[in-house]
Amino acid sequence: MALTRGDAMRLDNADPLADFRERFVIADEHKLYLDGNSLGRLPKATRDRLHRVIDQWGDELVSGWPEWIEAPARTGDALAEVLGASAGEVLVTDSTTVNLYKLVNALLDADPALRTIATDTDNFPTDRYVLEGIARARGLELQIFENADPLNGPQPDDVPEGALVVLSHVGYRSGALADMAALDARATVIWDLSHSAGAVPIDLNARGLRYAVGCTYKYLNAGPGAAGYLYVAQAEQERLRTPIQGWFGQDDQFAMERPYAPAAGIARFMAGTPPILVLAAVEEGVRVTAEAGIEALRAKSIAQSELLIALHDEWLAPLGFTLGSPRDPQRRGSHVSLNHPDAWPICRALIERADVIPDFRGPDSVRLGIAPLYTRFVDVWDAIDRLRDLVARGVHREVDQTRSRVT
Ligand SMILES: *Cc1c(COP(=O)(O)O)cnc(C)c1O
Repeated sequence: MALTRGDAMRLDNADPLADFRERFVIADEHKLYLDGNSLGRLPKATRDRLHRVIDQWGDELVSGWPEWIEAPARTGDALAEVLGASAGEVLVTDSTTVNLYKLVNALLDADPALRTIATDTDNFPTDRYVLEGIARARGLELQIFENADPLNGPQPDDVPEGALVVLSHVGYRSGALADMAALDARATVIWDLSHSAGAVPIDLNARGLRYAVGCTYKYLNAGPGAAGYLYVAQAEQERLRTPIQGWFGQDDQFAMERPYAPAAGIARFMAGTPPILVLAAVEEGVRVTAEAGIEALRAKSIAQSELLIALHDEWLAPLGFTLGSPRDPQRRGSHVSLNHPDAWPICRALIERADVIPDFRGPDSVRLGIAPLYTRFVDVWDAIDRLRDLVARGVHREVDQTRSRVT
């Protein structure tokens, strides 16, 4: 029999990370926010820090730069710890999309033998679009391959050998967790960590991974549109050059007459002036994640997603739901997709009638994200209870079924 609400409350009482929830702004306790994998909550420390940086701008004006100019490297080094990388290997800059563009082009320039670029049909759209544009501009072959087992994501046999491949560590729809070391042995892989960083251990160095990009506004809680990041293993940095040569990636930035020469190390991937307000928000989001510890976050995330799936099996499967994520927690990231033919109106009804925030991912998924820094066991229990009640009563048939621009 599934756990009772009292059991869920007992799990919260025993949760070593329970106090972290108080570090976040929670405007409405009744609203169950299961979309931290799309946009994380606002840490209270970030609100205070941003006020301080804004005041610093007002007070110091251009004299603030000697301190601000250290922010990209400092923030990258802090993030490197969460990703299992070394200092000097991670740069917080630009968006994930732009970082991917820079890294793919840099690798193709450095290795003319790479003639094929590839990704899987289930990868996040922006990754596919970037590759399409680069293939067109450079006259290369682009392979968008099917995964033999879409639920479990890309496996080594799916990947074209010897290609430059872009893969997500955690699939944005199914939540499948890729076996990074096995896939990396098969091809040159750029890993997109957007759906895993902050919730799943990544261990870039320990796994011998060389290239990655990702975003900071999901489990890292850095705010809407916050800068993304780029990781290049130390040994690969000096042979790569960014296709966007800007003055912040220049060797001696303030010797302005000199022609462009790439800066030493990861800084060469910078383009223009870094967004100082955004970097402050990234630094705070990363700090609270590092303090909780990625292993503890992962353990809680697994316990909560196991609860969610147990409740699905007992209450939702009889209502026509099927599990759209791997059942084995070792093969799953920190969100769970529940599939149903009426997923779209069910998502609308959850938001409008039940105060539960999921997201809809086409064609038929209700995606529920677990952000272990602030999601409670009782939130998971209540969300599935409200979902069961709503579908059992047919409430989703009463909502406006017109689709909006943002899903
Ligand atoms: C969220 C996400 C992105 C976001 O890219 P932006 O450039 O920040 O918009 C990219 N890739 C994946 C896999 C994502 O989940």
